[in-house]
Amino acid sequence: MENRQSLETLKGIGEKTAKLFEKVGVKTIDDLLHYYPRAYDTFEEPKAIGELLDGAVEAVDGYLKSGAAGRNFGGLSLVTVTINDMTGKLKLVWYHMPYLKNTLRPDSHYIFRGRVSRKKSGLTMEQPQMYKPEVYETFLKRMQPVYAQTKGLGNKTIASAMEQALSVRVMEKDYLPAGLRKANELAEYNFAIEHIHFPKDSTDLLFARKRLVYDEFFLFLLAVRRLKEKRQDIKSSYVMEKDSLARKLEKELPYALTKAQKRTLEEVFLDLKSGKVMNRLVQGDVGSGKTVIALLALLLAAENGYQGALMVPTEVLARQHYESVTKLFSSHGILKTAVLVTGSMTAKEKRLSYEKISSHEADIVIGTHALIQEKVVYDNLALVITDEQHRFGVAQREMLGNKGALPHVLVMSATPIPRTLAIILYGDLDISVIDELPSNRLPIKNCVVDTGYRERAYRFIAGEVAKGRQAYVICPMVEDSEMIEGENVLDYTKVLREKLPGIRVEYLHGKMKGKEKNAIMEEFAAGAIQVLVSTTVIEVGVNVPNATVMMIENAERFGLAQLHQLRGRVGRGKEQSYCIMVNASGDGEKNARLEVLNKSNDGFFIASEDLRLRGPGDIFGLRQSGDLEFKLADIYTDAITLKKVSEDVNTLLKQDENLLLPEHAELRKKLDQYLETSYEKLSL
Ligand code: ADP
Ligand code: MG
Repeated sequence: MENRQSLETLKGIGEKTAKLFEKVGVKTIDDLLHYYPRAYDTFEEPKAIGELLDGAVEAVDGYLKSGAAGRNFGGLSLVTVTINDMTGKLKLVWYHMPYLKNTLRPDSHYIFRGRVSRKKSGLTMEQPQMYKPEVYETFLKRMQPVYAQTKGLGNKTIASAMEQALSVRVMEKDYLPAGLRKANELAEYNFAIEHIHFPKDSTDLLFARKRLVYDEFFLFLLAVRRLKEKRQDIKSSYVMEKDSLARKLEKELPYALTKAQKRTLEEVFLDLKSGKVMNRLVQGDVGSGKTVIALLALLLAAENGYQGALMVPTEVLARQHYESVTKLFSSHGILKTAVLVTGSMTAKEKRLSYEKISSHEADIVIGTHALIQEKVVYDNLALVITDEQHRFGVAQREMLGNKGALPHVLVMSATPIPRTLAIILYGDLDISVIDELPSNRLPIKNCVVDTGYRERAYRFIAGEVAKGRQAYVICPMVEDSEMIEGENVLDYTKVLREKLPGIRVEYLHGKMKGKEKNAIMEEFAAGAIQVLVSTTVIEVGVNVPNATVMMIENAERFGLAQLHQLRGRVGRGKEQSYCIMVNASGDGEKNARLEVLNKSNDGFFIASEDLRLRGPGDIFGLRQSGDLEFKLADIYTDAITLKKVSEDVNTLLKQDENLLLPEHAELRKKLDQYLETSYEKLSL
């Protein structure tokens, strides 16, 4: 592949910065080029101080009469300087950047840009970015990329590395057949890459984006078609005739299955006994009760003498499923054994699990991607279920296929993909839909509030905790960030601990070690922690029915589907549950997206409203979260493109099934690379 050299070949990027880039998944120039902005900033002419708006991000032209002052407040170092113009006075403040004192000398001249706030001490700008006026001039009216950042790796560093990467990169031959490019009016590849980072204006950006979205779908669908064996009517070596254990457990469950669960279960059982390889997608809204279907199917496999695996996207979820199987089996006297396989287990723990798997002491294997690693050798794996995850449902088949005869595959998802799109994306799967919630559920009560409501929300949470319930509080970020405004888990936890004395408040985020995450999640599930402040790591699958409050800070930042998933963490038991969405945008206006959630708890309705509200081309809205990890593309807002790509792929493969024509040589190469990197992702 071109552009595979390490980032350290760029000027100004040493080992330390390269390490930080690695944290966000960027190792090579090529990775960097595909590290797309999460938003864009438009820089405006600097304003007069008198025109600055409280709360807005603004730029001012600042001439320093005197140098900056540095101070220290127990551990906190402050650098401040005041600038004046004819219209007023503005105080600039920086935290933890003592070295700035040397830059901010008398008679220096900068453009300062940052968020303005009116304090008791007067108008203030905190942590402003500073630019030489001649540099700022070049930014004016041009769109500037805003990248996802991490501590120590700010936007400026990323953007300047990007500029360099663009200038040193090796241009790639466009792999898309020229006919398709022309017919779809798509930008040339190298052009699109440059302009997704530094577009001149929104037209330019949309043009670049259109090409890259097309590519994402195109390669994905080609890969799916290629990986997909012609599954229809493949004979299965695993026929599951016996069902007495599974049926017994089904009857003994503490609840009756809903009609929709029952129907789905029968479809699955019929597949498993049919003598043909099952390929089924189970779609059901959050809380519709998909897990029990998986568990019964796994038990069916076990009682027929086979092994079954349940693969999930997060360790937290893996552990949770593992515990619920173990408890369920032991409380019903079922003598089948489950083991856990996750990345964060020690080498010794892993080895123990692997041994149990190869000796078939383990009937059921539950884990993350780790369970399809090469080292894991199954005795006779007959059923693979993936929960809350589609993507590796496709490629994992090959991996597992190599481990014996083709297993049955069951894919479970809460993503409400309209049927027409599902058929394109998972054309080779049969679909069961669980379109009904258990009858003991009360609809979640929702509210959308501004930040002024927080104190009341805390009192409300305290009240629920007093009744023995638990709460989640979601923040968009892990830690404080210079560039992006928003609540963060670490600071929020401190505040909540003060506001909720006597209540145990803990936090959870993706940067924590696996072991720490597990410990916190286990304690929360056991009720030892009452309030869990978390990022969206708990978004999928987590099931703690005793939790009744979901409070989401900066709700305006999340996509609708993601909010719906988050909200789905409550309302999972018989108690009344609540979802408090805090809209911190401060504009006092109703947020149309949040109103949709406020009004409805129905995932399919929400997805369709999302599509209507955002419309194709709304690329500034936050992307949907979902199982399909496209970088730019969104299966909802880009649904029209998706359909078109699907047709194009079909036509192409009809014409040249194995991409052997000379004009498809580049494409074949690109597809091979794509498959290779998807596999890398798989064998984490
Ligand atoms: P999801 O579909 O989101 O994966 P789960 O399978 O985790 O949902 O189920 C959510 C909760 O509902 C669990 O606590 C589960 O025990 C419970 N549950 C599942 N089916 C039923 C049912 N038919 N009646 C009552 N509760 C149920
Ligand atoms: Mg689930």
